[in-house]
Amino acid sequence: MNSSHEEVRQACSAFEEYFKGFYSPSFLQTEFFVVTDEIPKPDFPESREAGLGDFIDMDIGGITYNDTYYVKKDAANELRLHFHELAHVVQWRELTPQGFIERYIREVQDFGYDEAPLEKMVYALDGHYQKHGRHLSVEQFVRDNL
Ligand SMILES: [Zn+2]
Repeated sequence: MNSSHEEVRQACSAFEEYFKGFYSPSFLQTEFFVVTDEIPKPDFPESREAGLGDFIDMDIGGITYNDTYYVKKDAANELRLHFHELAHVVQWRELTPQGFIERYIREVQDFGYDEAPLEKMVYALDGHYQKHGRHLSVEQFVRDNL
């Protein structure tokens, strides 16, 4: 999926000034985002059978696949959303793609989307950013709290 979007993806270093003190420039340089009308969803029969139907049908502003996240055009100016998806990128990195996917699916099954620990961690971080909380390294925070 990411390879089919390679031409339209943008480097996250665009957010270097906004996310100073939270994401390192070297991290932002290696991650990408795509602005799109349609968020690509993991819509295959197995995920519905796994009880993820509600999650798949949810109207979301963004989604992350490894080093690239996708945001809807009408939400593309929301810094908090970019901050949120970037924290997922860190989770993907730390857990490896396979590890992230397995854990994420298990958490959504066990706790539901709102209470899934991987989501709660990220919402806590983007809320902190939104409230102009003190600087903290998201990369370090995720590493320490997984
Ligand atoms: Zn999320």
